[in-house]
Amino acid sequence: MPMTITILGSGTSHGIPVVGCSCEVCLSQDYHNKRTRSSILVSEENTNVLIDTATEFRLQAVRDKIDSINAIFYTHSHADHLHGLDDIRPLTYKNPIEIYASAEDCREIRNRFPYIFNETLQIGGGKPQVNLNKLSDKVATINECTIEPIPVKHGLLNILGFLINDRAAYITDCSYISEESIDKLKDIEVLILGALRYREHSTHFNIDQALNIIKKISPKRAYLTHLSHDVNHKQLCAELPGGIFPAFDGLKIIL
Ligand SMILES: [Zn+2]
Ligand SMILES: [Zn+2]
Ligand SMILES: [Zn+2]
Repeated sequence: MPMTITILGSGTSHGIPVVGCSCEVCLSQDYHNKRTRSSILVSEENTNVLIDTATEFRLQAVRDKIDSINAIFYTHSHADHLHGLDDIRPLTYKNPIEIYASAEDCREIRNRFPYIFNETLQIGGGKPQVNLNKLSDKVATINECTIEPIPVKHGLLNILGFLINDRAAYITDCSYISEESIDKLKDIEVLILGALRYREHSTHFNIDQALNIIKKISPKRAYLTHLSHDVNHKQLCAELPGGIFPAFDGLKIIL
C-alpha cells in the first residue's frame, strides 16, 4: 500500500531562524533553511499517524492541510517534540485522539499538561480530547499502519525511534543506536535520521556519525533531520553521498 511521510518540521530545538541570531543560515531567504521543530506525519489511505507534536504544530498542520489524525506517537518528551500538543484541539472535537508514549513520557505528558488530564472548573473548547496509552515494546497497529518502537539513546536518555510498516524508520534525537536496534532496521526503504550539525554534540549525532549509521543500516534512501543553523541546505545537498538528502519542512517522501 502506498504511504507518504511528510516532514512537518526539520529543525533542532531552537527552530531556524534562531531567535536573535543573524548568522548566514538564519538570514537566508532559501525556504529550505527555514526549519520548524521536528515532527513527521505518516499517511496511508485514510490513516494519519503523527509522530511528536512539535512546538509549531499549528503552523505545520495549516501549511500541510492536516484535517484528521488517528494517533500520535512520541519519541520523547523534550519541549520541542511535545509542546504543540494543545494545537491538536480542533482535530479532537469529533473523536478523541489516541496518544502512545513510553511509561516515563506518559508521566511527563501528564505533568506538563495537567489541565488536559485533571478535572477543571469548566471545559469549554479548551482541552484537546486525548487518551494516553503506555507504549509497550510491541508493534502498535493503527488501522492498516504498523508502528514498532525502536529503543535508542539520546545522551543518557532512553528514547524511541519508530519503524513504520517495516519499510521506513524515523529516529530523531539520537546519539547511540544498539546493534540490536540496527538489526531491526537493516535494508529498509527510507531512513529519516537526526543529524544536528558538523561539530560533535553530547546528545545528538553529528553529520559524520549519522552517515556512519546510515552505512550500517543501508536504507535505499536516507534523509537528515533535526538540523541546526550550522547547516546550510544547499551546501549539505552538495556534500552528501548519493541517496542521502537533507530533510526540509513540507517535504513529502512517497514510498
Ligand atoms: Zn529535539
Ligand atoms: Zn543562526
Ligand atoms: Zn530531545
